[in-house]
Amino acid sequence: MTTLRRARGYAPLEWSEESAELLGRIRTLARTMGEGHVAVFDLDGCLFDTRPRQVQIFRELASHRGFDALYRVGTEHFVDWSLRGTLANAGLSAEWIEAHAAEVRAWWERYFFTSEYVLFDHAMPGAAALVRAVHEAGVHCVYLTGRDETMRAGTEVALRRSGFPFDLPSTTLLVKPDFRTDDTTFKEGALEIVAAIGHVVLYLDNEPANVNVFRRRHPESLVVFVETDHSPKPIEPDPEIPWLRSFVAREV
Ligand SMILES: [Mg+2]
Repeated sequence: MTTLRRARGYAPLEWSEESAELLGRIRTLARTMGEGHVAVFDLDGCLFDTRPRQVQIFRELASHRGFDALYRVGTEHFVDWSLRGTLANAGLSAEWIEAHAAEVRAWWERYFFTSEYVLFDHAMPGAAALVRAVHEAGVHCVYLTGRDETMRAGTEVALRRSGFPFDLPSTTLLVKPDFRTDDTTFKEGALEIVAAIGHVVLYLDNEPANVNVFRRRHPESLVVFVETDHSPKPIEPDPEIPWLRSFVAREV
């Protein structure tokens, strides 16, 4: 049995020579290409760390229901998309998880995909500086997200608050018209819109299926797999795609 290579989870402050070199390549590419070219950035699990949003949601449920133990969940307990895994990592007992996981899941689904709650996300350290550098080089920056139209307003506020280029020429936010559309299907379709803006040279995403689709469509561009968390789909990024562990350009 072959084991799929999975992302190791968020490590937003982990610096390495490898990631610094890749960040340098992105900046050089942007400077070399400049106007008439396009860079595409995913949001959740890519430019934004969604764990604080999830912690907030859990704590509000904890307060509502008197689930004091649920306050134990912190950002460090999220490794993948497994809710039960996160709760176990936070030290909640198997009995507690068995009794309450369905309720926690329902509460999470009610608030996670909302304009109001995306404001709890944190920008990944270094991410806004990178996007600003790409934009200042003249490259059109597209935020291509699986968030849907109902989440647009909060997303715009979040981009502005964290200093991502927005409300400027050569910036575009593309959200899903319909919540029910599969993210990868939406993004593949949106590539037509993106290609009409200019020649795509850079694509960053944390979902293996998305980076693979993008690489197939734009083999000449630099496609980067951002290593945070991702869906449990049994898909591995194309081996030619570099992995980025964090956006910090130097040790912090
Ligand atoms: Mg994502």
